[in-house]
Amino acid sequence: MSNSTAITKTISLTNYGIKHNNIKYQLTPDELHQITIDNELGVASSLGALAVNTGEFTGRSPRDRFIVKDEVTKDKIWWGDINIPFEPQSFDKLYDKVISYLNEKELFVRDAYACADPLYKMNIRVINEYPWSNMFSYNMFLRPTEEELQSFDPEWTVVNAPGFMADAKIDGTRQHNFAILNFTRKIALVGGTGYTGEIKKGIFSALNFILPTFKNVLPMHCSANIGEDGDTAIFFGLSGTGKTTLSTDPNRKLIGDDEHGWTPENSVFNFEGGCYAKVINLSSEKEPEIYGAIKKGAILENVIMDDAGNVDFGDTSITQNTRVSYPIYHIENIQQPSIGKNVKNIFFLTADAFGVLPPISKLTPAQAAYHFISGYTAKVAGTEAGVVEPQPSFSACFGAPFMPLHPTVYAEMLSKKMQESGVDVWLINTGWTGGPYGVGKRMELKYTRAMISAALSGELGLYNYDNYHIHSVFGVAQPRECPGVPTSVLSPRTTWNDDEAYYTTAFKLTNAFRENFKKFENYASEEIRRGGPQRYAF
Ligand code: ATP
Ligand code: MN
Repeated sequence: MSNSTAITKTISLTNYGIKHNNIKYQLTPDELHQITIDNELGVASSLGALAVNTGEFTGRSPRDRFIVKDEVTKDKIWWGDINIPFEPQSFDKLYDKVISYLNEKELFVRDAYACADPLYKMNIRVINEYPWSNMFSYNMFLRPTEEELQSFDPEWTVVNAPGFMADAKIDGTRQHNFAILNFTRKIALVGGTGYTGEIKKGIFSALNFILPTFKNVLPMHCSANIGEDGDTAIFFGLSGTGKTTLSTDPNRKLIGDDEHGWTPENSVFNFEGGCYAKVINLSSEKEPEIYGAIKKGAILENVIMDDAGNVDFGDTSITQNTRVSYPIYHIENIQQPSIGKNVKNIFFLTADAFGVLPPISKLTPAQAAYHFISGYTAKVAGTEAGVVEPQPSFSACFGAPFMPLHPTVYAEMLSKKMQESGVDVWLINTGWTGGPYGVGKRMELKYTRAMISAALSGELGLYNYDNYHIHSVFGVAQPRECPGVPTSVLSPRTTWNDDEAYYTTAFKLTNAFRENFKKFENYASEEIRRGGPQRYAF
């Protein structure tokens, strides 16, 4: 790839207010890897990948994510706890402060783009304080050719200053860290946090406003891959439910692991040029493709290593959210460019820690709309001993923190697309079986993979009613048999060995669904409202 290409161009950042020329423009990943090590900001792991610590923040900080409220945004954004307004004047002042700070620093600048479909391509310039954050930008965004670089005109700019601390009282932020989107100036301003996910999710959030508002493209928090017959599958799901894991399938070409758009031309394109995989408990046996992608060029975040640089993937002493970023070409079986046509199957992934949802079930269009608006997964309780009660977690469109518009905007677009393309929609529980978290165990990855393969190949006997059982609580259609999966695993109630406990817990979950859906009831048709669980506890 363009890894070894020497870039001859130099750039000036005077129009951003940067007065110096201490700018490292478009360095190769190898150069950035080396500079990071030379500056003692990271080390090489034994697998070859660079390993860094992101500092105080090892995850995104949703409460410190703001959108500038101005003429472009004021009437369009769904303002609230998720999309928190920020004053334009405060933004301008804070931006100038960040720029003054960066005027004292060596800077790493990368020109890149988002959106693999040429029709929707958006040029991005990323200005980083740290070399490894710039290498992350190389990995995660799409990489322009040398020719494209000669006439590169950046549309959006990410200004990333992890070492800059805001003064909340003066700057209008909540605390010292912030991620602010300004749609008029087309800037994502990220400061006070070194967590790289803020960079990629900043641009994702921007696209989640721009694409549906101006281009009639549905943006989705999902992964995607494509089969040998050219059929595309997409996988929605909240963090940790398996988007990256399950889309990385040796038998299907990977389109992307996290952010996609569905176009009016009915194709699905990746926004990104790389993957950002969780590495907690990663093993080469269970996930050989992801494990194999961890080599020179990849960046490991917040992992624990021994003196020889061997990573202990089971060690979560810094965070549970240990990660690796790599350019998509670290995976062997990929679709290039990252575009798929002919969407045939949609999977909603949920890690149900109550252990009551079937491991695979088929949804009607109304159920699909209901589950998409609900966006259910569960959080397992904290690590305190004895606390095992799971917490339901609902996030509309399986990605509310990144969705600037009202969820029903995305839901309506998806419903229409599902209808037009006649897709099959499946609900997959990648979470617990045999009991809730603490009692049962996590669904085996090999079974989830087998169920998804069977759904994709048509082996689930989709159009024969006798092959399915309608779940008495959730109303979804549960296959009775599935190749490669013990029959007992398919019925969650059977795995519990305690009907009463199963139903009590199932009703707990249905009540949580109903409670959460109240805020959408006025927007949803009678049919969609009936797509939810049918029986509740009293
Ligand atoms: P994010 O949005 O944060 O990137 P994600 O949806 O991509 O999250 P993954 O990175 O795929 O989530 O994480 C799923 C995790 O769950 C992985 O660590 C995977 O090994 C583990 N896992 C265990 N059992 C299963 C299963 N049955 N199906 C999917 N993943 C499983
Ligand atoms: Mn992922």
